[in-house]
Amino acid sequence: MIENKTMADSKKSNIELLKKNIRNVPDFPKPGIQFKDITPLLQNSETLLLTSKMLAEPFLNKEVNYVIGLESRGFIFGPRLAQDLGAGFIPIRKPGKLPVETVEASYELEYGVDSVEMHADALQKGDKVLIHDDLIATGGTAKAATELVQHLGAEVIGYSFIIELTFLEGRKSLADSKPVEVLVSV
Ligand code: AMP
Repeated sequence: MIENKTMADSKKSNIELLKKNIRNVPDFPKPGIQFKDITPLLQNSETLLLTSKMLAEPFLNKEVNYVIGLESRGFIFGPRLAQDLGAGFIPIRKPGKLPVETVEASYELEYGVDSVEMHADALQKGDKVLIHDDLIATGGTAKAATELVQHLGAEVIGYSFIIELTFLEGRKSLADSKPVEVLVSV
């Protein structure tokens, strides 16, 4: 029990350390949006390593063939997360960026409407996929990514985010009963 309490305490203080290194920027990129800036977390060597370790931890014993990173901040930790899980990395990008045939899904962002693309040959039927991004707001981007994965016959086994804006309830729009792992909930 003493050991469990110590582990819980250290997890709590790690989360506090991450929180301290996420900067709140009011009215960016539009009035009324509070932007969560992870550049201090990336710049600090301790939180850079801690974030990687904490993102991987919940999925270490799960079968994951690919981590899918959402453009653009999902590309920062996504490849490292894939390496830590013995998986490959697949980018989902904004329209017009990928060079060969793509599949496309549209979504609503907290600020605007957009669509995302993935290479049509990126996934095979039955592949197990973990979707990763820095932050979940409305969940629109991750939902669009889920649609692309399912369209190609692959399976989303879970979601991984550094930050969740809980008041937007984005996780409600994600694949049913799949784990949504978040390091910092605000
Ligand atoms: P959503 O599709 O609404 O869940 O939005 C998630 C995407 O938009 C992620 O790629 C985030 O990087 C970005 N995003 C949305 N809201 C914010 C915010 N308040 N601060 C930082 N990034 C955000």
